[in-house]
Amino acid sequence: MASIFTKIINGEIPCYKVAEDEHFIAFLDINPNAKGHTLCVPKQEINKIFEMEESHYLELMKFSHKVAQALERTVTCKRIGMAVVGLEVPHVHVHLIPINAMQDMTFQHKVSMESSEFEALAEAIQKEI
Ligand code: AMP
Repeated sequence: MASIFTKIINGEIPCYKVAEDEHFIAFLDINPNAKGHTLCVPKQEINKIFEMEESHYLELMKFSHKVAQALERTVTCKRIGMAVVGLEVPHVHVHLIPINAMQDMTFQHKVSMESSEFEALAEAIQKEI
């Protein structure tokens, strides 16, 4: 069965898109640790990040780097944290999280956002790409 991220990539379910190219997509996490929490996802559905071919993995890092820089220009924060987990969605994704404190990286402290705020933030990050 297709992962929820494959369904997003195929346009079957919506997302707040931040960036996209031929092989990768970035969109806002729906249950963010902090405002601007973004996921960078390869379009090819692969379960674990270190199962990726080296060149594909490095391309994902390059894509994530570009998105992280745009994110840091958009959201006020001390820095952008990066994490790879994959326990909830078994489709590779890099979490980019604007952080001010260690708790922003714990996935236990969540913020709530209205859909209008998600939309405005995704648009603002897109403009910085
Ligand atoms: P993990 O697989 O543990 O790295 O976590 C999966 C992440 O995907 C969580 O932070 C979820 O909030 C996020 N997530 C799950 N479904 C969606 C969705 N439809 N759109 C955006 N983010 C999602």
